[in-house]
Amino acid sequence: MSTIRFQALREASSRKPVDFQESDRKSTIFGSNVFNDKAMRQYLTSDAFKGVQGAVQHGTKIDRKLADYIAMGMKEWALSKGVTHYTHWFQPLTGTTAEKHDAFFETSYDGSDPVEKFGGAQLVQQEPDASSFPNGGIRNTFEARGYTAWDPTSPAFIFGTTLCIPTVFISYTGEALDYKTPLLRALMVMDDAATEVCKYFDKNVKKVTATLGWEQEYFLVDRALANSRPDLIMTGRTLLGHTSAKGQQLDDHYFGSIPTRALTYMRDLEQECMLLGIPVKTRHNEVAPNQFELAPIFEETNLAVDHNCLLMDVMQKVAERHELKVLFHEKPFKGVNGSGKHNNWSLATDTGVNLLSPSKTPMSNLQFLTFFINTIKAVNDNESLLRAAIASASNDHRLGANEAPPAIISVFIGGQLTKVLAELEGVTTGKLSPEEKTDLKLNVVGKIPDVLLDNTDRNRTSPFAFTGNKFEFRAVGSTANCSNAMTTLNAIVAKQLRDFKVEVDALIDSKDMKKDDAIFNVLREYIKQSKKILFEGDGYSEEWEIEAKKRGLSNFKTTPEALKARVSKQSLDLFSELNIMNHVEVEARYEIELEEYTKKIQIEGRVLGDISKNHVIPTAIRYQNTLIANVKGLKDIFGNDFETIAKEQIILIKDISKHIEGINTKVKEMTDARKSANALTDAQEMAEAYCDKVKPYFEIIRNHCDKLELLVDNELWTLTKYRELLFTK
Ligand code: ADP
Ligand code: MG
Repeated sequence: MSTIRFQALREASSRKPVDFQESDRKSTIFGSNVFNDKAMRQYLTSDAFKGVQGAVQHGTKIDRKLADYIAMGMKEWALSKGVTHYTHWFQPLTGTTAEKHDAFFETSYDGSDPVEKFGGAQLVQQEPDASSFPNGGIRNTFEARGYTAWDPTSPAFIFGTTLCIPTVFISYTGEALDYKTPLLRALMVMDDAATEVCKYFDKNVKKVTATLGWEQEYFLVDRALANSRPDLIMTGRTLLGHTSAKGQQLDDHYFGSIPTRALTYMRDLEQECMLLGIPVKTRHNEVAPNQFELAPIFEETNLAVDHNCLLMDVMQKVAERHELKVLFHEKPFKGVNGSGKHNNWSLATDTGVNLLSPSKTPMSNLQFLTFFINTIKAVNDNESLLRAAIASASNDHRLGANEAPPAIISVFIGGQLTKVLAELEGVTTGKLSPEEKTDLKLNVVGKIPDVLLDNTDRNRTSPFAFTGNKFEFRAVGSTANCSNAMTTLNAIVAKQLRDFKVEVDALIDSKDMKKDDAIFNVLREYIKQSKKILFEGDGYSEEWEIEAKKRGLSNFKTTPEALKARVSKQSLDLFSELNIMNHVEVEARYEIELEEYTKKIQIEGRVLGDISKNHVIPTAIRYQNTLIANVKGLKDIFGNDFETIAKEQIILIKDISKHIEGINTKVKEMTDARKSANALTDAQEMAEAYCDKVKPYFEIIRNHCDKLELLVDNELWTLTKYRELLFTK
């Protein structure tokens, strides 16, 4: 009897929902573990408070003396809540968050004068001695001089008994070693570029903020069951397992009633989120069994990214209390839906206008169209860069797998807006006559809000869809740090807005055009130039692949292919021109991502080799021995007639041997392929070798194992089965 699996099943099926203290009104606890405005007003002097506000709103520097005052207030606030330690909380390129806790507690060397201390120096800058974070060769590991620096735009928070201070992580020479630094730079550039363009329409706009609302998909699996699967623990996904007889075909899980244990978990999780100021709003079942989604109210992008990183951490910690494990992987199970993280993105002015939301007056709708069309043009011109920003070994399972967007980037805008663009495209070149302008404003631009009202267009197959008042970038993976996608998206749109401003100003100055004439003229050209990116049809279809190829759109199905765009001349120029990343920083990221890809496939290969040889084959042999004993017994009883009587058993014995042979030879070949790949020195070539020469063995080996799962006695099978992982509630 397979002990681990059955023990896990016994444990899992005897669980009860966990009790927890739920506060009745979320609004009263929201943000109570955050050093937010309310806490700052209480604990900071008015100068210190103003200093933080200035840094948040205008990026003004905080001097050391002020930092001391802020640190003092922050410490008092934290101590009042039972906090003992503080940490600089940052997002290295490993894709998770990092922290190194230090106690507030200090004493003299002889143990006298014990005291809680925390000054400006500790708040502002730390050297985390983080020599083993990936840095793509920027930071000499012998020197190990990366340091973290306070990001005042994201408020400090308390998690457990630790004060967490969001920070950037940079090398001694100032290069970004994390996800946050380039994002902050991109958001600044976006603010400048968008504010300048807004001034065509409203001189009062002083600041534009990029907003992000992510939707996190995930699976919940009982902890004991997850722990019984070495592949889930080591790689985050199942490398083998025959599909369960029932999967998602009945569509009975999607938006269905949430299972009690999962719901209790969610309530507990949401309570934690409230304390941390993460404004979670929506929870529901997703398409696959045991798959769920959580979404917050959208926020300023940097804060939203921090909140998503924090959330993923909190989700796993709360899950422990409920004896659950959260699977964030994009494709934990073959044959059922994978998980993504839609990134809803828009731009908001400090005057309270959503720039991607059409409104009442023709002029503000011209503003809407300006941002709408510039975004489309930016995606059109940089589609492969956007694809590179979401590339990862795990997201490769999703993109193009006919459940998530294809690997081809395109933009969906809906039938109504397609018509509006077609009409705008017909605008006369040069100056417009007053009649033309009136007609355009009243009958095209002016009608947008009405046409959008009854615009129920939804296209779930599009990777980048306009959804009424925002764009939804749907191709982002569920494990991803949103920064990667958001840095790129904001960078390309910011660059586009800058170019737009230059072109419009040139028409105004040189052609003596009116402002709105000039805007119409430039937008018209953009519509013409961006045709290839607009696609309203079925993104999963084969016709689209063929059509997209004709249009010259990229279709990179694997990460090594997709990542090349990161270091194209266009990409290097873009990021350096905008001062978001210099060449070294971009190249370092490219290398780190290639390496990460290689390592992930390498680990999967090793784990698959191990499970198939050390779990599957021994189990198969055990069962085969039972069959052999059975055949021998039949021979004893029936003599020469045994061959007819034991016919099926003999077929089974042979089948099992065939699959054992398959596993053994293929694992050997895969190991050899890994060795050849490891001998390569170029990171791109190595990643490609892992992708093209190693990874193809996974399916073949898995196939043999999954066939054996069907042949072997259920009682003997050691690996928890799909039906048990997916349907235990
Ligand atoms: P759905 O897309 O399912 O119809 P909603 O329109 O309510 O649902 O929003 C989905 C997600 O989009 C939510 O996470 C929400 O926070 C986010 N969102 C809504 N408006 C904006 C915006 N202006 N900027 C960024 N994200 C937004
Ligand atoms: Mg959505």
